[in-house]
Amino acid sequence: MRLGALEAGGTKMVCAIVDDEGHISDRFTTPTEDPEKTLKILYDYFAERQIDCLGIACFGPIDLHEDSPTYGCVTTSPKVAWRNVNVVKAFEGLGVPVGFDTDVNGSVLGETTYGIGRGVKNCVYITIGTGIGIGVLSEGRLLHGMLHPEGGHILLPMSPDDPMERGICPNHPNCFEGLAAGPSIEKRWGKSAKELGDRDDVWDVEAFYIANALVSYTMTLSPELFILGGGVMHKADVLLPKVRAKYAELMNNYIQTKQTADLEHYIVCQSLDDNQGLLGAAEIGRMALGKAR
Ligand code: ZN
Repeated sequence: MRLGALEAGGTKMVCAIVDDEGHISDRFTTPTEDPEKTLKILYDYFAERQIDCLGIACFGPIDLHEDSPTYGCVTTSPKVAWRNVNVVKAFEGLGVPVGFDTDVNGSVLGETTYGIGRGVKNCVYITIGTGIGIGVLSEGRLLHGMLHPEGGHILLPMSPDDPMERGICPNHPNCFEGLAAGPSIEKRWGKSAKELGDRDDVWDVEAFYIANALVSYTMTLSPELFILGGGVMHKADVLLPKVRAKYAELMNNYIQTKQTADLEHYIVCQSLDDNQGLLGAAEIGRMALGKAR
């Protein structure tokens, strides 16, 4: 089978053909520009490659309700040009089933199908990069709900060591994304995460916010595994031990399971070399085709 996969990001679009075993071939990347132009490039790519289905893991917010008149659309995205653009409709002409979900649901699906979360039925994937989002697999199903989870915008207490007075999200003074995404780190310290090196003050504040968010997700979603990805997690060697330590402190032994007793295996990094979104997109396509693995 030839699964078409599209990881639709706010800055770039990554396409590939994925086979039954999860091997990626024929990767193609193009910048996310004017919607009409970009979608035409993507359509032509897939039209030339005889795919059996297409899966799209898309930046959002997006409308995932198949009975909605705006199903397949990007909705209130900060990328204004893409608002109300119907991404699914743009590929109807291919004549193959098209699956559509959030970029982070793609990542959780990729990791639980091919990666470190293989076989785990309750998993939360968190991307911490230019923005923050969560993908949730609950009892083996991707969680959508009313819209889809927007776990990057949960409200957090401010760290007493944070030199900023508020986060940078225009909607919320103290949401996770506004306090802990890459641009917030840069705003707080005046340098990019890369330039900040291993400074403890920098990564202690970051770990404080990540750990607070993970505690809230633990209490509400009860995952068996947390997987963290995105650009900020390239600092995982410094950051992850701090996150686990702060998480343990905040949990204060309230929940005692085999997972919370072994945080090195409970809170982990993505395992698929940043291909988790693309592989998840392929799985979203396979699900649209109605063929289970
Ligand atoms: Zn926010």
